[in-house]
Amino acid sequence: MQYVSTRGSAPALDFEGVTLAGLASDGGLYLPVEWPRFSEAEIRAMRGLPYWQVAATVMRPFIGDSLSETELTAVCQKVYGTKFAHAAVAPLVQLDQQHWLLELFHGPTLAFKDVALQLLGHLFEIFLERRDERLTIVGATSGDTGSAAIHAVAGGTRTEIFMLHPKGRVSDVQRRQMTTVRAPNVHNLAIEGSFDDAQAHVKRMFNDGDVTTTLNLGAVNSINWARLMAQVVYYFTSALQLGAPDRTVAYSVPTGNFGDVFAGYVAAQMGLPIERLIVATNVNDILHRALATGDYSASGVTPTITPSMDIQVSSNFERLLFDLAGRDGAALAAQMHGFEATKAMQLTNAQREGAAGLFASHSVNPIETARAVQSAYQGSQQVIDPHTAVGLGAAHALAAAGAIDPAVPIVTLATAHPAKFPDAVERAIGVRPALPARVGDLFGREESFVELAGDYATTRDYVLSHAAGSQG
Ligand SMILES: *Cc1c(COP(=O)(O)O)cnc(C)c1O
Repeated sequence: MQYVSTRGSAPALDFEGVTLAGLASDGGLYLPVEWPRFSEAEIRAMRGLPYWQVAATVMRPFIGDSLSETELTAVCQKVYGTKFAHAAVAPLVQLDQQHWLLELFHGPTLAFKDVALQLLGHLFEIFLERRDERLTIVGATSGDTGSAAIHAVAGGTRTEIFMLHPKGRVSDVQRRQMTTVRAPNVHNLAIEGSFDDAQAHVKRMFNDGDVTTTLNLGAVNSINWARLMAQVVYYFTSALQLGAPDRTVAYSVPTGNFGDVFAGYVAAQMGLPIERLIVATNVNDILHRALATGDYSASGVTPTITPSMDIQVSSNFERLLFDLAGRDGAALAAQMHGFEATKAMQLTNAQREGAAGLFASHSVNPIETARAVQSAYQGSQQVIDPHTAVGLGAAHALAAAGAIDPAVPIVTLATAHPAKFPDAVERAIGVRPALPARVGDLFGREESFVELAGDYATTRDYVLSHAAGSQG
């Protein structure tokens, strides 16, 4: 399988190439040159298979020659057979006649990002070994991505990771999930300033010749195609359990960077009968406005009880706009450059109409979020995290508005374990969710991180002097 950039001018790459590249060299994002498609019979044949086997089947066409059958089977068995605390990896839980939760938080850091990043860590090792190269991953995090990325590469021999977080501005659970991982290839940097300051340092490093000539830099954010691909799998496993391909299923997806819900779009392109994808946003609702009115314009970020969705610009939305508008890279590059200059753009008619065929959207405010936490608890004895509650709140609102046929099951993606956000949960239902036993000693473990001043040069010099992955 070959991959093309949404901005049309970067060279096409194979799966191994896009996994290591992350962003395309023209600033675009990679997508497969065409969508592989399964017949109904092929989908039916996946029923009842263990998660790792569905994963290998669904990902096979995207991977092409980059992994042999033996390598793909081995990596899927290893990741989805051993790294998740629940044997089903992503179990479905019924809330009532129409609503279901898809629990995606049984990985090591209690959020859905583990499902893809655990795989990505292994893919990096396989491809770098083959090329005899090393990769220095540099990232900034406001919480969930950093810990999932650290757990994915800790102990790797070809990778090392420098994760920046804004000092004192991530939750205790989130910080400890990063700083208690003791491996020689993991470096935690607490930076003075905000998340945006840390993020700006990372961006600058990728454009700093002093860094890029000595280190092979890599990124693990959700622009990496391999992450989206791995997320397609749980749409298949869940829809199969609810009767696909003989029955359609709707999904409600708590959305920030548009990665998780775009994976649902990919599943639909591959032939999975998805009735509707609900893009559930918090009050940072740029995506809801874009889908409802065509107006994609960024404003300031409002902090909420769902921090992993407090996002101004959703990188992966570019992939959808490209696919819906005839895959014209030059036109999309012009549209995106306009957006980058003015922080606003209008969707074209083709983009709006194309999106309306599959997507619905809803913005959920903090009161409605708390109410959804309460209704899951009172109606079904389920303690859910606030991100999941945004998804469930949107699912309830659209079902009540008659936008989804009552006979169609609606699956809300449960993107985090409630114990990751205990304060908001406790405020809503008066119950403080406990950390699962497997991470229960998080607060007893020793932390390791360095504190750095907020200027760019200090961070860059630290990375350069501590990186093992010098290319000579
Ligand atoms: C990252 C994250 C999201 C948003 O997912 P996107 O793929 O960025 O849309 C939602 N909920 C939780 C808990 C997350 O960590």
